[in-house]
Amino acid sequence: MSIRENIEHIRSLKDAAAVRSGRSGEDVLLVAVTKLHTVDEINEAIDCGITDIGENKVQEIMDKYEHVKPVRWHLIGHLQTNKVKYIIDKVSMIHSVDSLHLAQEIDKRAAQHGLAMDILVQVNSAREESKFGITTDETEQLLHDILDTCPNIRIRGLMCIAPFEENPEDARVYFAAVKKQFDQFGKISHPNLDFRYLSMGMSGDFEVAIEEGSNLIRVGTSIFGARDYSKK
Ligand SMILES: *Cc1c(COP(=O)(O)O)cnc(C)c1O
Repeated sequence: MSIRENIEHIRSLKDAAAVRSGRSGEDVLLVAVTKLHTVDEINEAIDCGITDIGENKVQEIMDKYEHVKPVRWHLIGHLQTNKVKYIIDKVSMIHSVDSLHLAQEIDKRAAQHGLAMDILVQVNSAREESKFGITTDETEQLLHDILDTCPNIRIRGLMCIAPFEENPEDARVYFAAVKKQFDQFGKISHPNLDFRYLSMGMSGDFEVAIEEGSNLIRVGTSIFGARDYSKK
């Protein structure tokens, strides 16, 4: 299938899942994950109406940035503090903030550019050691610490990567747990906290994620096909 057909297919599944959860298709943003895919493939997706793309490595954003048509860039992978400066003026949202140290570096670089950076705090409801992100208990403290010390950051919501499950149904409990946190912490009253995005769901599990309340899905393989890691 072509990229266009894949995008149309994902959109219809996304919209149907949104309706099943009492919302409409427009309520759920599709971010096309373009890591390890070429500039031509990305531009083709943009021609098919993709407005937001996600990359997980700073270097790939740097390499592709000038060659990709106008689009919103999302940094979805683990971000090292020493690389924040390269992407601060390129991305519209950073999904992977999991420490105050990283938030403070983002804040400093945002101030230098006179901008306010939208971020999501990455939570790890499954407590998997192999993944980045913080536990439920740590989330609230981190949110308050960021609000107290980072005036150039706007906290827009939460992000999670569910543990890989053979059956996406098994990820449902994790998504539900993160949705609960999203509702709880979204009530914090602060001018720099404006919860809008609950980023959860990938190719294998986005329908379940949407049913549990996700409003931003990050889909790569189902749009572009398998990634060729041998090229890196
Ligand atoms: C690669 C990646 C995705 C997309 O995964 P697919 O299974 O290819 O859809 C989503 N989120 C993050 C953080 C990723 O690194």
